[in-house]
Amino acid sequence: MYRYPSRNQFIFVLILLSFIVAISYYPNLVERYYSMGIYPYIGVTMRSLTRWFPFSIGDIIYIVLVLKLVQILIKIVILLIKTQWRLCLVILMRYTYYFLWLIILFYALWGLNYSRLGITYQMTITPVKNYTYQDLQGLRNQIALKLNNLASALYPDSTNTLRVALWETIKCDIDNSYKTASTRHPFLRYSVPCIKPDLFEKYADYFGYTGYNSPLTGEAQVRQNIPRLTIPYTMAHEIAHQIGYASEDEANFVAYLVSIESPNLYLQYSCYIEIYRYVSIALLYDHDSIKNSKQSIPLNKRVIKDLQDIDNFLRLHNQVLAIYMMNIYDEYLKANKQTKGINSYNEVIGLLMAYHRRYGYR
Ligand SMILES: [Zn+2]
Repeated sequence: MYRYPSRNQFIFVLILLSFIVAISYYPNLVERYYSMGIYPYIGVTMRSLTRWFPFSIGDIIYIVLVLKLVQILIKIVILLIKTQWRLCLVILMRYTYYFLWLIILFYALWGLNYSRLGITYQMTITPVKNYTYQDLQGLRNQIALKLNNLASALYPDSTNTLRVALWETIKCDIDNSYKTASTRHPFLRYSVPCIKPDLFEKYADYFGYTGYNSPLTGEAQVRQNIPRLTIPYTMAHEIAHQIGYASEDEANFVAYLVSIESPNLYLQYSCYIEIYRYVSIALLYDHDSIKNSKQSIPLNKRVIKDLQDIDNFLRLHNQVLAIYMMNIYDEYLKANKQTKGINSYNEVIGLLMAYHRRYGYR
């Protein structure tokens, strides 16, 4: 039996929502009282509760929500066909009420981190916006040097076979890397690790993701069926979301900070490979010339092979549906003050340049 939510219930939920929206316009307050205030406790509590389950609770919640949505839509269509307008309106009002609660939960448990001052404030850097072609080339050359050195260390023999790190080993290494990074940058402290394999990774190509953070449960889900070399960086990126860096460019930058200071060469290599791809794509897009984007420092042939393997994987697993899903994610990011939407992943380049201009290359 469905009933209208009461007027008081609606008023209460709207007041709460207005309060959250109002706070989001004060990044100073969000940074101080939410992101660096209560959020770390919220995150630790959620991870403490969900880490004991070997499977992802977040994945289960999302599938239940999607099934419920389908059920409601079918019910509404049936009621419309039967011209039962009143019952249809009651159901719409009731589920709108629940939906508003879901939005409140999302922002209270994690989403407010979209409105914080963030890593640029903490590192006292300003992202470089108008970088030139030479700047990009310079950055890519630095990364190429790192990649060549790391490849020499990681491929000790002539077999061209990279030591394959196991899932649990990678998790442990990333956890230790965050510990190392937090001695230098205390705001990167990560406790109560909670990283799980994605339950629906077989279908992930249709959605176009390699990992994601679950705001309602505090879990990080990472696909295991992606090139192994990309897993460490993906984990580091998802942990950055877990500790309160909501935007994609900040999560990428935090993953970079943690990776380059890590004693683990495999994580470093995974990170530089990913950043190399971002910079190469920026060179292609910004200057629209494959010829111009040619590498001035030749890459080690093993690095080239690893880059090709990742590109081949992405090409083979690229699904048409993923484009539509990415458009939805693009709108979601824009609704959360990420003006560049899906392209905000690439904005990490401006952060990297600002960081290296201030602290140099190490
Ligand atoms: Zn992300």
